[in-house]
Amino acid sequence: MYNQKVLDAFANPKNVGVIENADGEGTVGNATCGDIMKITLKIVDDVIVDAKFQTFGCAAAIATSSTATQMVIGMTVEEALKVTNAKVVEELEGLPPQKIHCSVLAEEAIKKAIEDYRGKKNNTPVDKSKVDFV
Ligand SMILES: [Zn+2]
Repeated sequence: MYNQKVLDAFANPKNVGVIENADGEGTVGNATCGDIMKITLKIVDDVIVDAKFQTFGCAAAIATSSTATQMVIGMTVEEALKVTNAKVVEELEGLPPQKIHCSVLAEEAIKKAIEDYRGKKNNTPVDKSKVDFV
């Protein structure tokens, strides 16, 4: 069902964990397979210097969150907002069609974490206790 690249990312995920005092944090979930994904970002001068994830979910959710965090480290927040789930899937050389929705989580979690970062900067914090289902 999964290609080798997805299996490797699932077996050896990178950037697992939570960043202490993160500059941005986003948690999203999907009701289809019950995946919950939390992404924390360390951002210095609008550049993502570190990204970590915690995912309770299926292999596709874990593989895509690992890959997405690797992709956004070193990017500016503007660039990271352009990382779509399609780009993450491309990086993983494809996912089974019924698992594409899991890759949307990584995109949405990163967007939400950046929203949180911007909210803090503008003194309009977002409600982090809320899990957005996508
Ligand atoms: Zn899933």
